[in-house]
Amino acid sequence: MKLYPLFADLAGRSVLVVGGGTVGERKAAALLDAGASVTVGAITLTPTLQIWADAGRIAVRTGGFEDSWLDKAWLVIAATGDPVLNRHIAMLAGQRRLFVNVVDDADLSSFHVPAVVDRAPVTVAISSGGEAPVLARLLREQLETLLDPALGPLAALASRLRSHIRERLPELSARRRYYEHLLTGPVLSFLRRGQPALAEAEAEQSLAAAATRSIGSVVLVGAGPGDPGLLTLRGLRALNEADVILHDRLVSGEVLALARRDAERIEVGKQAGHHHATQGQIHALLLEHARAGRRVVRLKGGDPFVFGRGGEELEYLRAHGIPYEVVPGITAALACAAYAGIPLTHREHAQSVRFVTAHCQGSHDTLDWAALAQERQTLAVYMGVSELGTLQERLLAHGRAESTPFALVENGSRTGQRVVTGTLDAVAALALTHEVRSPALLILGEVAALASSLAWFGEPPLGEIRSRECETRASGVEPRRWPLLAAAVHRA
Ligand code: SAH
Repeated sequence: MKLYPLFADLAGRSVLVVGGGTVGERKAAALLDAGASVTVGAITLTPTLQIWADAGRIAVRTGGFEDSWLDKAWLVIAATGDPVLNRHIAMLAGQRRLFVNVVDDADLSSFHVPAVVDRAPVTVAISSGGEAPVLARLLREQLETLLDPALGPLAALASRLRSHIRERLPELSARRRYYEHLLTGPVLSFLRRGQPALAEAEAEQSLAAAATRSIGSVVLVGAGPGDPGLLTLRGLRALNEADVILHDRLVSGEVLALARRDAERIEVGKQAGHHHATQGQIHALLLEHARAGRRVVRLKGGDPFVFGRGGEELEYLRAHGIPYEVVPGITAALACAAYAGIPLTHREHAQSVRFVTAHCQGSHDTLDWAALAQERQTLAVYMGVSELGTLQERLLAHGRAESTPFALVENGSRTGQRVVTGTLDAVAALALTHEVRSPALLILGEVAALASSLAWFGEPPLGEIRSRECETRASGVEPRRWPLLAAAVHRA
């Protein structure tokens, strides 16, 4: 941050504006609005400044600038249009430790005057640190259209009710929820329509209702595979409203960064073998925070209902009478397939797709290997990389062809995504050669061959699909080599 933003209380404080032209007039007007006691020092005044002077709204120093003009000032604005004089004023102010603004000269200024959106008592101030004032002004125009004109009266109403609100809703999260209701609900509409009495009545009524409601809620949110662009709008909204976020290890930092800043974040990540929190502890945390009246987001990688134990958590919440919602997310199979250029189904090559997990030894024995080994279907295998050997061996034993293509997608959709391609007989060995690490998803089936021709994200796939025959058969088109694609992108 280049400048430290602060809002100054100038009520009754003396501020000197040097320069009596239109710029000086504009500065004086804004200072008067803030209740400052304004002195304008100038040789000549604009007609408006003269009227204000005659009416006693501003004090005036006439004639050439004198050092003594600075004597009582808290702040100085140099708006003379004479660079030499402006520099002189800035230097003198600096010697006296007075904050000075030299109009249109960021270097000489020790404070800047921001572009302002005024919804008094709410004020939004924008600064580009003097680097791009036009951009700051454009932003101001955008915010003008975004911020409801009734925001000012709403803040005034909230200020009148403030101690009442504190008393009825001692818990911060409940107050936050109530203020959100003020901001998005009927109170603002009444104010916008010029019906302050109705607005006040509605605000009182909803305050009484909020005070009797103390139970919180849980939203189970799918965070997607990592790329924050794959989060749903509903998921984003839940993150913005959360008081507490219990998140898995797989949730990316970029997604977490979108959450409300002051939401409490608790990592309850689980990694095969290294449990940060047991499922029982997660349940207990959900219950504790919801019962305290908080809005809890349970944020899970991918989709909460795909190998995410979301079902167990809902059963627990239902049994304890906690209200909940579920926001789906893009599961790893869909994301990895998309970001590796592999259509999971294809009219010619795969008529079905199965999502399978093989996370631990025990789960291998419950899988129907004969069904999984069938041709013309795609397997999306969520798993620890160490399980690949068993998977390869069992699928081959049940008749899947050695030449079946696979793509192993590591860190799908994230920067650093890697795709390793090959055929089933070499999957475990290739994963070892390329040191594939978790999180990684295996896509196995005829369609995986398309990765070599349709890939578009990150680095090109590593490893060749050994059987060219298999590759062209699956894709139906000559594989396009990566450098060609890269060149095409470059030209575009
Ligand atoms: N609920 C999650 C899956 C949790 S199981 C979902 O719907 O995606 C965890 C497994 O998902 C990992 O072992 C890995 O196989 C897979 N996975 C999750 N995110 C991934 C990513 N970004 N890239 C590759 N695989 C991923």
